[in-house]
Amino acid sequence: MRWSNWADTSSVCGIEVAEPAATAEVSALLREASEHGRRVRPIGAGHSFSAVARPVDLAVDLRRLCGVRVIADGGGRVRVGAGIVLGDLNAALAAHGLALPNLGDIDRQRLAGALATGTHGTGGRLHGLASAVTGLTLVTPDGQIHATAPGDGLFEAARISLGALGVVTEVELATVPAFRLRAEEGPEPLDAVLADVDAFVASADHAEFFWFPHTRVASTRRNHRVDDGGGRPLPRWQSHLSDHLLGNRAYELVNRVGAARPGWVPALNRLSAATLGRRTYTDASAQVFCSERSVRFAESEYALPRAAVVPALRDLRAWFDRTRAAVTFPLEVRFLAADDVWLSGAQGRATAYVACHQHVRGGFADVFAAFETIMAAYDGRPHWGKLHTVDAARLAELHPHFEDFLAVRERCDPARVLTNPHLERILGP
Ligand SMILES: Cc1cc2nc3c(=O)[nH]c(=O)nc-3n(C[C@H](O)[C@H](O)[C@H](O)COP(=O)(O)OP(=O)(O)OC[C@H]3O[C@@H](n4cnc5c(N)ncnc54)[C@H](O)[C@@H]3O)c2cc1C
Repeated sequence: MRWSNWADTSSVCGIEVAEPAATAEVSALLREASEHGRRVRPIGAGHSFSAVARPVDLAVDLRRLCGVRVIADGGGRVRVGAGIVLGDLNAALAAHGLALPNLGDIDRQRLAGALATGTHGTGGRLHGLASAVTGLTLVTPDGQIHATAPGDGLFEAARISLGALGVVTEVELATVPAFRLRAEEGPEPLDAVLADVDAFVASADHAEFFWFPHTRVASTRRNHRVDDGGGRPLPRWQSHLSDHLLGNRAYELVNRVGAARPGWVPALNRLSAATLGRRTYTDASAQVFCSERSVRFAESEYALPRAAVVPALRDLRAWFDRTRAAVTFPLEVRFLAADDVWLSGAQGRATAYVACHQHVRGGFADVFAAFETIMAAYDGRPHWGKLHTVDAARLAELHPHFEDFLAVRERCDPARVLTNPHLERILGP
């Protein structure tokens, strides 16, 4: 079968896909593959832009392992099949009056895939998805089943594992009581936001902004947690108009025009920024966090020390002004508190995530090369699921627990059953 990722930036033909329905089946599969010298990759929904999931011989797809069980007297902890799609997990949690504390932009990923690459949303006092993990079941290539818990090295490494330690089959998560968000979206001068970024971050539970290159406008989003039932969701027609038509179909057209007429891109970006108008609405958290993304794009994203975000964005703006690069997608800037997850972008430091997108037909190699050079100057850590060119030697300088992670990899997978060329570059052979 042919495997490709969402953006079609990575693909391969002629691989075998197994869909085990139980941890014991995963164990038998891995043992047999190891004995026959086959390379195995666990795969999620293929939403990583990088080739981190790219299978070599055998792909293990856990779509059949997707149950959700609330742990009795567990204070909101749940045990979940690792192959569940995030949207299904959100719906199952909501049915129990629960929610995840923070989410990214979409809900199409599978839980284990999203965890393995450090998927995150925004919130200056909050963390990425992996921080909600309180336990994991991991099957190593020798077929052993490990129940891991906070405090042991395997757990610390396995929360963001890049699929390099084993196949995660079950995840225990700490959830919070279901909550609603009041969303306030609108344009603001980019310079005003950059003048006091800390105030911007503190102005909402979840603050972020988009910036279309060649404009001076930040399209800001502030999501506030609200206890009361007040406030309304967007009417169906309006959410359809803004998210599905303006956000997607018309935007596809803008991108086609931009690809055909690169000189028009600054004007098109001013139009796009103006279209992302002002709106306020209130809805269940998952409805506000996640939306549909049907225009295909490529993405690179870096986690910067929070204090570096303003000079880094100024450098990016100077580069766009100088080159007039035809980038029709906005940069996205999000914020997280420092965490303690070994391979997290936000490990040990308050973080600003800066993401650079380009339409898949737009040609992104030059833009991402310039973007990466600027991010590197500020000790940016690349997002594991997005496009980047960083190698193991540099990653060891950027991640204080990188060597610890490699030691766990050595114990779990000494024969490198779970590898591919991308992992060889970022982790070493
Ligand atoms: C439109 C779009 C929007 C996005 N928005 C965000 C966002 O807001 N925030 C953010 O941080 N990222 C975002 N991403 C990136 C995405 O969340 C990550 O790349 C994520 O890893 C994709 O999950 P997946 O299920 O598709 O996993 P895949 O891409 O299929 O796999 C990712 C990794 O997980 C490993 N893996 C999968 N299953 C298992 C398992 N059972 N056990 C062990 N390892 C496993 C794979 O081997 C691979 O290394 C976005 C991506 C897209 C395409």
